[in-house]
Amino acid sequence: MNEPASMPPRACDLVVRGDFVLPMTAGLPEIAGGAVAVRGGEIVAVGAADDVAADWLANDEIAGGIVLPGLINTHGHAGMTLYRGLGDDMPLEQWLHEFVWPAEKKFTNAETVAAGTRLAVAEMLACGTTSFADMYFFQQTVGEVAEECGMRVLLGQAVIGFPVPGCPTPETAFDKVRALDAAFDGHDLVRPSMALHAVYTLTPQLMERGAAVAAELGSPLQIHLSETRTEVDDCREAHGMTPPALCARTGVLREHTICAHGVHLTADDVALIRESGAGISLNPESNLKLASGIADIAGLLAAGVPLGLGTDGAASNNDLDMWDSIRLAALLPKGTTLDPTVVPAREAVRMATVGGARLFGWEQRVGTLEVGKRADLCVIDTSAAHQTPLYHPYSHLAYATHGSDVVHTVVDGRVVYRDRRHTTLDVTDVCATVTRIARRVASTV
Ligand SMILES: [Zn+2]
Repeated sequence: MNEPASMPPRACDLVVRGDFVLPMTAGLPEIAGGAVAVRGGEIVAVGAADDVAADWLANDEIAGGIVLPGLINTHGHAGMTLYRGLGDDMPLEQWLHEFVWPAEKKFTNAETVAAGTRLAVAEMLACGTTSFADMYFFQQTVGEVAEECGMRVLLGQAVIGFPVPGCPTPETAFDKVRALDAAFDGHDLVRPSMALHAVYTLTPQLMERGAAVAAELGSPLQIHLSETRTEVDDCREAHGMTPPALCARTGVLREHTICAHGVHLTADDVALIRESGAGISLNPESNLKLASGIADIAGLLAAGVPLGLGTDGAASNNDLDMWDSIRLAALLPKGTTLDPTVVPAREAVRMATVGGARLFGWEQRVGTLEVGKRADLCVIDTSAAHQTPLYHPYSHLAYATHGSDVVHTVVDGRVVYRDRRHTTLDVTDVCATVTRIARRVASTV
């Protein structure tokens, strides 16, 4: 019998080959000797490299050791790279009152936020992060910078109950969220959200108002939640309930609300969050540095709460390397439970990819390598001494990989970081600009 005539290969924009391709789809398969084909920013094939090569003729090709979905940084303040290392080794409250807020009052404006965000984007793209959530000021500028650099962002106009840069009143911040919604309606890379700072910087009335405006716009909400014991104790004293209970009462806790931290939660809090459809962005490195505590990652995972990972801002981490967050998410629960089987390597990688997409409500667009999804991915070089030998790719990703092992990053089908060089920004220039601003900060703070 004659073999059926095979289809001639079709043209595509890009083929990405890897010794391993990890699509992060159900069952977490590993494709040894795999490839991903991309056309028009969309994934059109994922499979064995030979099969992909037989079907697709690539205009461009990149390759490396491990190909996986781009990392999704679910919590941060990109513009705060300006204040990286400005104040260390002190508690959150002191750090906010003595360093962050005074510095922001003097130096945070649209121009400095653009410079700081460009630096954050440069760092994140170089570490394989393809999407990030921002919670800061001047979000129109942040959206423009992300667009210019070709990075995906969930903007978060920060709402705080006192005057902040760019917003003399919380009502101005609500107006800005509306304006962002109009400016980036249906944008490929930039989507807005409402970022309510925290229960300790907002009144319940403002939380209600924020939840109502976000509901009217269909925007996701972000909030710092139960980050420190002080926050929880003060909330109980002022409102007679925990921060998640207050969020539930004010309508803030709901489907696709991104709760950053979740370090100090009661069993009732966990149940409230799970039932609401909200998720938690875990930021283990920031929580350690500010001595906020250690979230019960194993317990939250077992409870079925949607989990993503974040770095938090560069002023409290102090870098934006998501591989540190992955490693800590896998290691800390083992140390606190004395059980080495909790949060296995692949689960930590899952949180940083598909878990983040679920938190943003973007699971139909990104987070896995599947036909029909937007092509957001990163490629890890596994040839270095610390990556040799390679038995299990997930083990390397969780326990041996650093941001500097990322060799290529692709966002929406565009190679924005290629052979360890940015293609959409001049990193020397970006660093020089921030260094100039930092000199002014250092001379006055
Ligand atoms: Zn934060």
